[in-house]
Amino acid sequence: MTPLLKQAYDPEKFRQQGQALVNLFADYLKEVQSENTTTKVLNWNEPDVLVKKWQSDLATAPNPDISQFFTEVIDEMIHMHHPKYMGHQVSAVLPLAALGDFFGAFLDTGMGIFEQGTAGVAMEKILIQLLAKKMTIDVEKADGFLTNGGTLGNLTALLCARAKMIEREVWQHGFEGKKYAFLVSEEAHFSINRAIRVMGMGATGLIKVPSDKAYRMDTSQLKNIFQKAKNEGITVIGVVGNACSTSTGAHDDLNAIANFCDANNLWFHIDAAHGGGLLFSKKYRHLLTGINRADSVIIDFHKMLMMPTLVTGVVFKNGNDSYRTFAQKADYLWADSEGHEWYNLAKRTFELTKTSMAFRVFLTLRTYGEQLFEDNLNQLYDLAKTFSDMLQTHPDFETAVPVPDSNIVCFRVVKGGYSELELDELNAQIREKIMKEGEFFIVQTRLRGRLFLRTTFVNPITTKKIVKDLIKKITKLKI
Ligand SMILES: *Cc1c(COP(=O)(O)O)cnc(C)c1O
Repeated sequence: MTPLLKQAYDPEKFRQQGQALVNLFADYLKEVQSENTTTKVLNWNEPDVLVKKWQSDLATAPNPDISQFFTEVIDEMIHMHHPKYMGHQVSAVLPLAALGDFFGAFLDTGMGIFEQGTAGVAMEKILIQLLAKKMTIDVEKADGFLTNGGTLGNLTALLCARAKMIEREVWQHGFEGKKYAFLVSEEAHFSINRAIRVMGMGATGLIKVPSDKAYRMDTSQLKNIFQKAKNEGITVIGVVGNACSTSTGAHDDLNAIANFCDANNLWFHIDAAHGGGLLFSKKYRHLLTGINRADSVIIDFHKMLMMPTLVTGVVFKNGNDSYRTFAQKADYLWADSEGHEWYNLAKRTFELTKTSMAFRVFLTLRTYGEQLFEDNLNQLYDLAKTFSDMLQTHPDFETAVPVPDSNIVCFRVVKGGYSELELDELNAQIREKIMKEGEFFIVQTRLRGRLFLRTTFVNPITTKKIVKDLIKKITKLKI
């Protein structure tokens, strides 16, 4: 062992480094949580400026001062734990869950096969069973795994649908000139489109179903769209429902979609990346009514369930289906049930050396219980409704929907005498100004062509007063 290697694996050195980092994060949390914090949500820098800066930082290597590194990076990063962060949909990470992530990263055994993953693989199964129980489906029959994110989760579930629903084996023979499609809400996340394209189904592989005024799938159109596809020689193999959509947080009518799928023998996939966490909320669980009827569901723990990215639960109602995804028919036929080796997860996931995702979720549940998820969800969803009410009673604002389904609120400033284009421009400027000033962080989206400001409440320490201050801030901006 060279002296450098010896030093790099030195236990005492590691102890000091680790303790210093935890202390730093604890101080950081305390600072952003304090009422009079002077820390901005974001210290805006242009991308190229940061490249230059960090290039010269790296030139100082070897540089033993890790504290300086940590402090500077924290300062430059967007502060998700800041109560005025209300932008994208990922969590303000639960501190204990971050430790669970670190724990997994340190052991880093890989979760693809049981002999490597052991306890982590067992926990993964328990977590999937917990989701299945919450979905009120048969826990014995259901099965699944964790994947690195919803994008990969959606792809994996749709690949499974493809394997199950197309009679002749696509894995072996390709599409043989035939056209297949999924019916998908026009509000679906772009990862669904990406998955369908990656699967080689082409532009006709995704058939859009329009959404209604509340941005929910207009299920009354399913029948006609299905028939039209048929007339054009396209075989529809499944429908994808949103729980909820990304832009506005709209929950589709899952029972209506399930009825349609049942009647036409179609695969029903639910993209519950964002809203699936509501399984843990007695108050808002009703938004997921019908989830028990899906063939496959994905739920991002890193969206509403406080986990660090990425950790996504993929649940199949009929666990046997999941063995088809990456296998030729013969493989899974003779390997039915016991032969499936549920514990060698890489047979059913895209990832082979998979990260240790289960620890952070399991540790959280073991330490705080499910109640923590429920408390967090209810608080964030309640706050969105309060904020939306405030906007609606204010003459300068309008909201995209009368009552938000979720913790996402889309709104815009409206002014008499402005054209729609001018309003778009005005709202875009507001968003840019807010982001660059750095006191608050919000995002924007386009809804039916119009530009809306968008907030997602992800931080349980964000208060009513803070959202009121945001409204005040926007109305006082000089544009
Ligand atoms: C975030 C999101 C995804 C993508 O998940 P990642 O974990 O970011 O890969 C998919 N669908 C919906 C509805 C989402 O909100």
